[in-house]
Amino acid sequence: MASPQYEVFLIWQKQLKNTRDLPISSSMDHFGWRGVRRIAAAVVVTLAPVVWLGAVLVHTLTTESDRAALRQAETQAHTVAESAIEPLLNGTPLSAGLDAQERPALTRATTSLLGTETVVSLRLRDTTGRVVFDAAHPDSPMGPPVVDDEVETAASTGIVTKLTTVGADEIDGSRTDGMRAVEAYVAVHARGGQVVGVAELYIPYAPIATALNDSLHHLLTVILVGLAALWVALGAILSSVAVRIRRQGERTEQIALHDPLTGLPGRSLYADRVEAALAAAGRLGTEVALVVVDLDRFKEVNDTLGHRNGDDFLRIVATRLTAALRPGDTVARLGGDEFGLVLPGARGDSVETILHRVQEAVGQEVELAGVAISVEASMGYAMWPVDACNADALVQRADLALYAAKTARAEIVRYHPGIDEFDPQRLGLIAELRRAISAGDLVLHYQPKVDAMSGHVVAFEALVRWMHPVRGLVPPSDFIPIAESTGLIGPLTRWVVDSALAQLAEWSVSHPELSMAVNISARNLRDDLPGWVLNRLVAHRVPADRVVLEITETSFATDPVRATALLEELSAAGVKVSIDDFGQGYTSLGSLGHLPVSELKIDRGFVIAMERNAEHRAIVASVIELGHQLGMTVVAEGVETDVVYAELRALGCDTMQGYLFSPPVPPAAALALIDRFVRV
Ligand code: C2E
Ligand code: MG
Ligand code: MG
Repeated sequence: MASPQYEVFLIWQKQLKNTRDLPISSSMDHFGWRGVRRIAAAVVVTLAPVVWLGAVLVHTLTTESDRAALRQAETQAHTVAESAIEPLLNGTPLSAGLDAQERPALTRATTSLLGTETVVSLRLRDTTGRVVFDAAHPDSPMGPPVVDDEVETAASTGIVTKLTTVGADEIDGSRTDGMRAVEAYVAVHARGGQVVGVAELYIPYAPIATALNDSLHHLLTVILVGLAALWVALGAILSSVAVRIRRQGERTEQIALHDPLTGLPGRSLYADRVEAALAAAGRLGTEVALVVVDLDRFKEVNDTLGHRNGDDFLRIVATRLTAALRPGDTVARLGGDEFGLVLPGARGDSVETILHRVQEAVGQEVELAGVAISVEASMGYAMWPVDACNADALVQRADLALYAAKTARAEIVRYHPGIDEFDPQRLGLIAELRRAISAGDLVLHYQPKVDAMSGHVVAFEALVRWMHPVRGLVPPSDFIPIAESTGLIGPLTRWVVDSALAQLAEWSVSHPELSMAVNISARNLRDDLPGWVLNRLVAHRVPADRVVLEITETSFATDPVRATALLEELSAAGVKVSIDDFGQGYTSLGSLGHLPVSELKIDRGFVIAMERNAEHRAIVASVIELGHQLGMTVVAEGVETDVVYAELRALGCDTMQGYLFSPPVPPAAALALIDRFVRV
């Protein structure tokens, strides 16, 4: 059967795939239509300018061809006038009419011209426009005076031409169809150069056009082929540009979603993944861990080895983070040296194990620019749904936890409600506490545990205080919770155990029966505590059975299996375990018998109140009874009055502790209590 985590992973993967696939599959559905539309648009877009260009060219060419025809007709008209008319005239203005030599000569010449169809009609007019000679009717007398603009223009400019259609009636009455012709008016000169009249010629357009059309067709073919080639080229360019734009778009999207340096998901994809993980976990009823990782001395790497090496380093970290996690987990780069991890299906009690592994992977030495470097990572995390009920709150709380971890220089910090109170002053306190542990600003005060029957001091409980240079003596309630929430509790507890054992070793010389109790936090139960404690016992030459580790009842609630295993290891070596503040938590009576515990410490709340409250007295009596039944020593803490003292003795309580005997005091005062204090 697949593990729940693996199931989450599968579902989560599926969901991610679904969200990723949706647009892809829907785009596949539309691909055909979109493709057709895109091609159609490309055809229209490229065809329109090509067709327009073609139309302009064709129009220009045909206009130009007409102009060429007119020019050719002009040349022809000049030739006719110069070679077939002017030599036959005697030089007098035509308005005077033709003489007897001129008319027959002109008749002969024009008849042959009309016969070759070089000219379809030819008339000679005087400069006012009156017809003097008509080749079609050579013998006709001079026509009536007329006013003709074209004749007048030709007489003054030399020639006027225009395209026209000549009909049967207009010319010779034999043709009924119109015929395209060039109508030309060309000045007729005398030998001296003066204009004597105007020749009106109709030159058939067809022969000129045929010659021109041949070259025009050729030109048009070349143009059309050229245009088609241009269109194809345009299409190719357009489609390649479109492909490039699309690829660029895809790349932009990839860059938008992924961090370009490491290739990891960026912030927005990270946010998507968080949402997806919560949705999947919600269905499965599992948890999600959100972790924010920040490299501790990355700036130094950047500053000393340069940005290129810094970038290489970040890439290495990205690879290591990814390798240290499961395939279903997400590693994202949130910017700078900050990474985000989404661990779907991770359990609250196993996250730190995973994160220690990640930390180890990241902290491995790496050689950059010939320098072996290693940096540590601070991590803040929050669990869904325990620490936050939605994605936004989860992200914000993991950030907050990281902030706390960075300020406290702790390795891993889980979000807890108190973290919200992390004001700068409190954060400053964390940094100071870190220094205080190594600088020796912490001191231990000792409070005696008194044997109920003999009234002798049988043990001391070591209670830590902070000799703050400005604030004075700071009570543990002001800094132990901070130490617990930042991971500083590890070094702090080690310092307390070491100092208390050293003190016990010193006092044991004169008081070999004396025991020492030390308080252990729930978080210490995750460390390699037993090995370390046993090692220190040997170092200080203190017998294991002189040491009592006080653990609050609630410590067992977090991870009972691990806590029990650790305590069993310690108690097997002879170390005693005491349940502190008993009665505050909810240890099941059933499990109490299985715990490797030799002492029950009744919470001082019950003890102080028992004097006035019968219920509390009953509870105290029951706990004493219960402890004894389970073979444990019962200690009452918070004994402040003689009345309570007497009652506890009557109830059979074994050991007592409280202001009645002594508050916690410095070592010298504590030593004085051993010999002096006897109360029966
Ligand atoms: P605790 O382990 O239950 O320690 C007993 C606390 O009760 C001490 O407070 C002590 O001063 C106080 N007390 C003793 N007799 C009386 C009494 O007759 N009446 C009243 N009202 N109070 C009495 P203290 O020293 O302020 O310590 C508070 C707590 O801080 C401790 O509770 C313990 O949980 C924690 N703590 C102290 N030192 C350490 C340490 O080294 N490590 C850890 N993890 N926790 C520590
Ligand atoms: Mg205690
Ligand atoms: Mg206590």
